Amino acid sequence: MVFYPPSWVPKLPIDPPDSIPIIEFMRNEQYGRRPFSKSRNPFTCGLTGRTITHAQAFHRSECLARALSKRLGWAPNEGTAWNKVLGIFSFNTIDYIPTAYAAHHLSGIASLANAAYSVPELTHQLTSSGVKVLFTCSALLGTALCAADAAGIARKHVFILPMVGDDKKETVKRQASDSDSDSFLTIEDLISEGEKLPALEPLRWSKGQGARQPAFLCYSSGTSGLPKAVMISHRNVIANTLQYTAYESVGRRQRGVETQVELGLVPMSHIYGLVVVSHGATWRGDEVIVLPKFELESYLAAIETFKIEHLVIVPPIIIRMLQSRHLCKKYNLSSVRLVYSGAAPLGKETIEELLQLYPTWTVVQAYGMTESCVVVCSTSEHDVMHRSSGSLLPGFRAKIVDPQNNEITEYDRPGELLVQSPSVVLGYMDNEKSTAETFVYHDDGRWLRTGDEVVVTKAPSGNDHFVVVDRIKELIKVKGHQVAPAELEAHILAHPAVADCAVIQVPDDRSGEVPKAFVVRSPGFASQPAEQVAQIITKHVADHKASYKWIRGGVEFLDEIPKSPSGKILRRLLRDAEKERRRNE
Ligand code: AMP
Repeated sequence: MVFYPPSWVPKLPIDPPDSIPIIEFMRNEQYGRRPFSKSRNPFTCGLTGRTITHAQAFHRSECLARALSKRLGWAPNEGTAWNKVLGIFSFNTIDYIPTAYAAHHLSGIASLANAAYSVPELTHQLTSSGVKVLFTCSALLGTALCAADAAGIARKHVFILPMVGDDKKETVKRQASDSDSDSFLTIEDLISEGEKLPALEPLRWSKGQGARQPAFLCYSSGTSGLPKAVMISHRNVIANTLQYTAYESVGRRQRGVETQVELGLVPMSHIYGLVVVSHGATWRGDEVIVLPKFELESYLAAIETFKIEHLVIVPPIIIRMLQSRHLCKKYNLSSVRLVYSGAAPLGKETIEELLQLYPTWTVVQAYGMTESCVVVCSTSEHDVMHRSSGSLLPGFRAKIVDPQNNEITEYDRPGELLVQSPSVVLGYMDNEKSTAETFVYHDDGRWLRTGDEVVVTKAPSGNDHFVVVDRIKELIKVKGHQVAPAELEAHILAHPAVADCAVIQVPDDRSGEVPKAFVVRSPGFASQPAEQVAQIITKHVADHKASYKWIRGGVEFLDEIPKSPSGKILRRLLRDAEKERRRNE
C-alpha cells in the first residue's frame, strides 16, 4: 500500500525545476519566492544584531566567488564540479550560506562539516570530499589548520568567517598558534577583492544539470557503517524548500502570518539547519536569527530581544528548558507561537510538560533525514498528535515493509519506512554498495530505505500520521547529531586493551541518547581492574572524537560479543538486554 499526503496538504506550486542552481531559485521570483521587497532580512546575528539583506547576501556571495575564481582558477563554466569543492567548518554565522553559495556561483560544491569535529574527523571529510579551499571561524582555526595540513589544503586557501568577538584579523592571528606567522584573510578581504574584479560569466547549465549535480555534501552514516558523503543535488534542496513551505503555508495562512522571525540555531552544516532554516525560512521571506551554538542564556535572550516567533530546535533543547524552568521564566518568551522539533524523537510527555510551562505555544514534530534532503512528514498546527511525526509533505509517497520486504497494508503495524520524493538525494559519493543498499528500485521506481521503524495510524483528525516507533539502522542520535556505532567500534577496537566490542545507544535525559560500549578485554588487560580499563577506553574515545560521540553511556565488559553466524554484531540483543536491565533497575 502506498501512502500519500492527506487532502488538506496543498499540491506543490511548481514541479521542482531541474536545470537551475539553488541561487537562481532563491533569488528569482519566477520560481515563487517572496519578493525581496516584501521579505525581512534573511540573516541577523542573534548576539550582535548585525544583519544582511537579501541583496547584500547575494552580492557578498558573488564577490567571494570572483575572488575565489581568481585565486583558485575556478571558472563558472569550465571543469567539473568535483574539482571545485569548497569546505565550511564553522559555527553558524550570517555569512555561512553566502559562503556556500560562492561555490555555486562557480558551479562547484560546498562540503559542510560539523563544527564539533576533531582533527581526524575533519581530515576525513576534507580528504574524502576533495575540498580545495576551506572556510572556518577563528574559534576553530587550530583544528581547521591541522586538518587542512593533513588533507593537503594550502594555508593560503584557508579563510576566516568572522564571528562575534573576532575583532577583525588581529584576533584571528592571535588565535592561530603563536609560531604561526601566516596571516589568514577573512571573507571581508575576499569580498573587497571581488568587488574590484569583473563580474563572473553567467552559468550555462545543460538540461537536467540541477538534478544531476551535487550542491552540497553532508555526512551521514546511513543505515550502517562509517559516515559517508551524501550527494545533495540543487534540485533536492529546491524540492524540499517547496515541499516544506507549501505544507507550512496552511497554518501560516490560518494565523494570518505573512513573514515571521525564526531561530537559526540548529547547525547549518546539518541538513535540518541547511534546508528548513537557511532555505525554507528565507525563501518565504522570514528573518533568521542566527546563533553560533546552543547556550541557554543567549538562546533565551535572543528570543526575547528579537521577538522570535518560530523556534526550530531539537528535543534536547526542550529538555534543557524544562530542566531550567526558573531561568526560562526570567525571559519574556511571549513572542513564540510555534516550536518545530526535528532530527530526533520528541516524547509526548516532554511536549505536555513544555505546554504546561507555555500554554499558548504550539509544538509540532517533524521527521526527516539527510538522505531525504530532510523533512518527510510533520505534524501541523491544525493537526497535532503528540507522539506522532504527522503527515507526509506534498510530493512524498511512502510504503511500510516487513523484514522480508513485504509491503504492510494494515494501519498500526510496524515496519520499515520507505519514501519517494524529488528531494531524495543522489546517493553516497564513491560508495556504490551503500548507495545500492539504501536507494532501492521497485517496479514503481526508486525508494529510499529510511532504516526507521514506523507505524501509520489514523489520527483523530482522520489523517494518516506516521509514528516513529524504533530505529532499525545502526545509528545513535546524540542531541540530534549522528553517531555511527561502526565508527566508534573501529576506534575502540584499535586500542590494545580491547579484543572485541560493540556500541549501542542508551537513553539519556539530556541528550536523548548516548553511546554505550560493550567490550571484551584483550588477555593482557584481563587482570586489570575493570574500572581502570573502562576509564582507559573512555579516554581513548574522548581524545580523538567529537564530544557528542563520547561513551557517556558507560563501558560494560562481556566475555563475548553476540554475533550472527556470519559475524554481524547482534546489536538488537544487546539493546533488548539493556532495556530489560533498565526496566528492572
Ligand atoms: P539525520 O540524517 O542526521 O537527520 O538523521 C536522520 C535520523 O534521525 C532518522 O532516520 C531518524 O532515525 C532520526 N529522526 C529524525 N527525526 C525524527 C523524529 N521526529 N522521530 C524519531 N526519529 C527521528
